[in-house]
Amino acid sequence: MEGVLVLNHNYQPLNVTNARRALGLLYLGKAHLVEKDSKAFHSERTVIELPAVVRLNHHVRRPTPALRVSRKAIFARDDHTCQYCGARGTALTIDHVAPKDRGGTTDWTNLVCCCTKCNNLKGNRTPEESGMRLRRRPFRPKFIPYISYTKFLAAAANPVWRPYLAPYADLPPLA
Ligand SMILES: [Zn+2]
Repeated sequence: MEGVLVLNHNYQPLNVTNARRALGLLYLGKAHLVEKDSKAFHSERTVIELPAVVRLNHHVRRPTPALRVSRKAIFARDDHTCQYCGARGTALTIDHVAPKDRGGTTDWTNLVCCCTKCNNLKGNRTPEESGMRLRRRPFRPKFIPYISYTKFLAAAANPVWRPYLAPYADLPPLA
């Protein structure tokens, strides 16, 4: 994983930055090193250790942004898996569980990742009417959205970062 995970003083994950900016924060005394990267940068005379996780020395107050629902975020939450048949790596689309023109809302609890085959099969019906079963009820993720949800889930796949992210989200198990 490229980049450095930046934690607020209270350990909340704030963002992912590049090594140069993270080294700048360390050099200016604005942050301290929490985890080193396994790779070091070798220049002619010196070996520069690269940070993997840094923590700010002062608490940065940031308003909590709204966790917005998006196509990308639904795909990430559902791990690019059709929520009806379990297909992966196929043409995927977004399904309104309760159809939109019948009062179904466009939010976390009514949108699922769905393959085109299941979407055509379901048509403009509810799962009950079409005899299809959801593998899991769609949910609003428990998550602090300083980092985008897609980025956050990708970052959580990094074993060094994961322990710092896990307390702030319901993470799927590592593959
Ligand atoms: Zn399907």
